Amino acid sequence: MTIVIYPGSFDPITNGHLDIITRAAYLFDKLIIGVYDSPSKGILFTTEERVALVKKTITNLPNIEVESYNDLTIDFAKRVKAKAIVRGLRMSADFEREFDMAMLNKKMFPKLELVCLMSNVEFQFLSSSLLKEAASLGGKIDDLVPKHVAAALRKKFQRKT
Ligand code: ADP
Repeated sequence: MTIVIYPGSFDPITNGHLDIITRAAYLFDKLIIGVYDSPSKGILFTTEERVALVKKTITNLPNIEVESYNDLTIDFAKRVKAKAIVRGLRMSADFEREFDMAMLNKKMFPKLELVCLMSNVEFQFLSSSLLKEAASLGGKIDDLVPKHVAAALRKKFQRKT
């Protein structure tokens, strides 16, 4: 059984993440989504909220689990017996960051592989940070996230439209 992890901040989960999740769950026996507890960047949703939003997004997908973690991603991978990390690649900027992280992870845990799935062209531009900015200014975000995430964003920014 091939177990892989898909780690990230998911602040909040977007349709771009969901696309990677669906494709990875098709490729591997089990996908464990790891919601990183304390990212260095500013976070809008608490860990519990981020996990709940991810769980609600994947209710129809059978071979997926969701967990939060607060240690090194390689230690999370070891704990759940994952063979690889899955990440989504949007543009060249993602590549450089992923490459550096992969090199460091390989040094620390050589057996763990990195599998990068290219972002769907539809979601190339979509990031949680831009999404939050747009939502905070009242932008229309309904096509970019699942319905319950759009509602949670509106609630955070106290907007009714
Ligand atoms: P992190 O803070 O670890 O980058 P994110 O939640 O921003 O966490 O992203 C998690 C993973 O999902 C990363 O591999 C990121 O490149 C990927 N990702 C984010 N948005 C998209 C998207 N629109 N399309 C494909 N992959 C994406």
